[in-house]
Amino acid sequence: MKNSRCFVLSIIFSMMVNLVNSQDMPQGRELLKVQECDKLNKTIRDPSNTALAEWVNSIEGTGFIKFNLEKMQNDGGLDSMKSLLGMSNPNSFTVVNETISKINPDVTFVTTQQYYNGIYVEGGGYIQGFINCVTFFMNAYIMEDINIGLSPSLTKQQAIASAQGHESGSPVFGSTNPEDDIQLVIDRDLTVSCNYILAWKMSYLIGNQLKTVFVNATNGSVYKESLQKRGLNAPTADYGEVSLSDSPNFPGGSLTLLRTPSNSVRTFDKSGTNEGGLFSSIPTLFAPSLLPTTSETSLWPTTGTDEHEPEVYQAHYVTTNARDVLDAFGLQFPTTFFVAGHANVEGAGYFTNTYGPNNSTVEEALYFGWLKDGNGVKLSTALFDAAGHELTHMHLSGKFGNGGEPGGIEEAICDIFGEYAEQNCPSGLTDWIPGGQNGLNIRDMASPEIPNYFPEIGEEDDVHDIAGPMSRWFTILVDGGTFQFAGQNFVVNSMNISAAAQIVFSSINFMTSGSDYLDARAATIAAAELIYGECSDEVEAVATAWYAVGVGYPAHCKLIVAGALHYCEEYLGTSGGNVDLTLVNPISGYTYKWIYPLDWHAIGESSPQTYIGTHLRM
Ligand SMILES: [Zn+2]
Repeated sequence: MKNSRCFVLSIIFSMMVNLVNSQDMPQGRELLKVQECDKLNKTIRDPSNTALAEWVNSIEGTGFIKFNLEKMQNDGGLDSMKSLLGMSNPNSFTVVNETISKINPDVTFVTTQQYYNGIYVEGGGYIQGFINCVTFFMNAYIMEDINIGLSPSLTKQQAIASAQGHESGSPVFGSTNPEDDIQLVIDRDLTVSCNYILAWKMSYLIGNQLKTVFVNATNGSVYKESLQKRGLNAPTADYGEVSLSDSPNFPGGSLTLLRTPSNSVRTFDKSGTNEGGLFSSIPTLFAPSLLPTTSETSLWPTTGTDEHEPEVYQAHYVTTNARDVLDAFGLQFPTTFFVAGHANVEGAGYFTNTYGPNNSTVEEALYFGWLKDGNGVKLSTALFDAAGHELTHMHLSGKFGNGGEPGGIEEAICDIFGEYAEQNCPSGLTDWIPGGQNGLNIRDMASPEIPNYFPEIGEEDDVHDIAGPMSRWFTILVDGGTFQFAGQNFVVNSMNISAAAQIVFSSINFMTSGSDYLDARAATIAAAELIYGECSDEVEAVATAWYAVGVGYPAHCKLIVAGALHYCEEYLGTSGGNVDLTLVNPISGYTYKWIYPLDWHAIGESSPQTYIGTHLRM
């Protein structure tokens, strides 16, 4: 009895809560979450859909399915169970994106878009994970019970007119004919229910803001709009006119704020500041309270003594892009840091700045200045690869110390991620040349001058030179090649730069501040074993590429025997001396046994036909 009374009370209590909530409901619209739509994944969520259960290991949330791999492999996969998932006609799905897992290359993720009777369904589709071509999971967003008319009452032109009437400024469409920028979609009305709306969806610019607007295709009302990334078009020397993401608040007038919307990157115009001021001689130089602004409206001078000095816009552009690329890869950066575009400083760098009482606050920073090219012309160092390089120093934050081989390894890792960033930034360049974009050509990773081979490092003391062999190792891993050792060919199959960079990234965990080149070889092999498995082709490629730059043997798992490959029996005398074979990469802790024909005799054999050791002579 007590239990049932409590039960009744709790129902009354929750009803009261609902009443209070509805009285306090703000004026603004309360939107339902998509997951609260009972029409979302209705078939998958239906408890009477028992036929689905035998295909499934688990369903989490509203539609995250882990499949029974064996059943999927043997009974035909997703195609044979479309009706069990609510995916059958008149629904269709098209692939919009496909990516291979960075962690496990056997895993592929495919994203699809839902269409209903050929009409785009807003938010509809699914992500499917394959392992060795068998579907192992699915995250479904399938919109069902679409019960609305599919013929719009409004024409495209009428919908555009309705959107224009809604704006105070005049919309600028991307296409010459705005009708090319408008699409009929099936949307969900999340204000009161999950009912569907037939809508015209379009995007256009209002000032610097990109907007996406939905017009009800039945009654012409603008019922939903969203602001996309706010852009600022700014001039740069090396990338042309670029779009910068800016703070939501422009300060107005001639000043432009150079900071990301979340304030994570703030870029200061230091064109008028002397060189010393950059490096914290003024404690509050970059304090968070300062607005990172510039009044530049064009490039900094292109003639006279200051010609081709770096532009603050370009520093902001390359840093924010490279940061996003490397952040997505897994490198870690402070939640906020600053960048200085500096007219009077040579090179580019990473440093920390202190301010506040007793300099107690430390902020990390990058700066970009200029270097001279082969003809003595000053060129900006604010380039994607240089930004990627300096950001990688920020990620490593002094892990490898400052000099010698550890310092060289750090510089190589920075150049590697500099090139990775450059390839994945809007320039899409892979040139293995830091500074290649504008002709600065600071280094050539694929063929460093001296040393490009580990034994040549000798007395080098510039860490950027000591980096040479490891940088070249990476380019070989990506580009591939064939290398000879002991009369045999060792082949490095080319590998995409993301996969190779993943090996380097993981290898950092296996290294310390004192790691040298031999440690780097061991660490990258350990990383490749972790990702691809022991004795995989990738592990052998890593080892062979190291051999190519003079570090270790061209194999890790395979044993290599040096000596002639063919011997003719008639040359073998009883005194021996013709056969001379050496196992060159024995693993310590193992014994090696050679077996040969009965009438042959090795020097020092332990028994007929058998010699124990690494060097066989007969
Ligand atoms: Zn560096």
